[in-house]
Amino acid sequence: MYDYHVHSTRSADGMSLPEEHIARAQALGLAGLCLTEHWESQPESPAWRPDFAQFAPTHSLAALGVELGTPQADPTAARAALASAPFDFVLGSVHYEPNQPDYYYRSDVSSFEDARTLLRGYVEAHFGLLEFGDFDSVAHLGYPLRYIHTPGVTMLSVRDELEPLLRALASAGKAIECNTSGIGRAWGAMASLELLTLWRECGGELVTLGSDAHNASRLGCALRAGAELLRTADFERYAVFSNRRPMLMNLST
Ligand SMILES: [Zn+2]
Ligand SMILES: [Zn+2]
Repeated sequence: MYDYHVHSTRSADGMSLPEEHIARAQALGLAGLCLTEHWESQPESPAWRPDFAQFAPTHSLAALGVELGTPQADPTAARAALASAPFDFVLGSVHYEPNQPDYYYRSDVSSFEDARTLLRGYVEAHFGLLEFGDFDSVAHLGYPLRYIHTPGVTMLSVRDELEPLLRALASAGKAIECNTSGIGRAWGAMASLELLTLWRECGGELVTLGSDAHNASRLGCALRAGAELLRTADFERYAVFSNRRPMLMNLST
């Protein structure tokens, strides 16, 4: 299998060298991985905007990627980062709305209505991401639910806002990610099975699969379980990208 969401020490919060991820991928028998280093529009330090031009191709197993955080908050700098290296794959992600703190800091939200309001803002930020446009797959849809633990709240709690977003992403030919980092943890896969199922119903055809490993010990984690979720949601294949073009891989291999 391919792991298309991985952070090395080239990311501000990565803990393993690219070479350590590659050695681990070989030990696991992975077909490949993509180093999707963080680039943030609202960096807490310069380390969140690495100089991709310095990163030579590491190994034939490792594609060159980036996880662009809320690029619409600084689109000029985001486009410059994308132009600085020959990326294979661009994940678009929303860890925060423009000019707002990371959802990591929003565990104060507890009421059902406050959680829905927050999720509406989260969906709205993805319309901004789509307007920015230069990305291949949406990372970890449902990310705020890692930190908001309001009983009964899921992404489907804002279905009226979510469905138009998913239809617009599908029309634009984008993928969404099944991020397996939460499988076996309280918040589960991002996107969840119900969200992946809705993505299919809304015309979504492309899905990507990644562990979001920040440490080589987590590389490839729960990819098989993620593939099973995708099959349950009626997907037969997942996409990996080379030179920004999708290639479809069988979920059972
Ligand atoms: Zn992320
Ligand atoms: Zn990530």
